[in-house]
Amino acid sequence: MPFTPIHLGPGLALKAIGGRHFSFMVFGGAQVLMDIEPLIGILRGWAVLHGRTHSLIGALLIGLLAGAIGKPISAACLRWLRIPHAPFTWRAAFAGGLIGTYSHVLLDAIMHYDLQPAWPWSPANPLLRWISVDALHLWCVALGGFGCAVLAARAAWRRLE
Ligand SMILES: [Zn+2]
Repeated sequence: MPFTPIHLGPGLALKAIGGRHFSFMVFGGAQVLMDIEPLIGILRGWAVLHGRTHSLIGALLIGLLAGAIGKPISAACLRWLRIPHAPFTWRAAFAGGLIGTYSHVLLDAIMHYDLQPAWPWSPANPLLRWISVDALHLWCVALGGFGCAVLAARAAWRRLE
């Protein structure tokens, strides 16, 4: 299913670890860009929903696009919402974009049979059911919980300073 928030769990954990070197906003935008193809596929009744975008090459191109357009969009949003933020770097934007698209392919490859992560070199999906879908969701929720807890604790600590 397109645009599942489950992808954001690992992103929150990465934000907690990476701080200002990792853009969670660009990471989230990359998830949306990745699932445009499956969304169009659902609307048009395609047999394969996770096509070329959900491959190593697709993730590279979409990750670079996410970083390139995500930095100005995210910086403008933060300014508009008046959210104080460390200077937004290209490195943080491309880290969010590329880690966003590659983690997306990894998680979707475990869940969906129609994915070909190594396209055009191989039609196989060796990651399918690497772990159960229930376990995968549990990991994503746990990572999201970890990320939220660390970010909340850090914000509370900053308020005490
Ligand atoms: Zn997807």
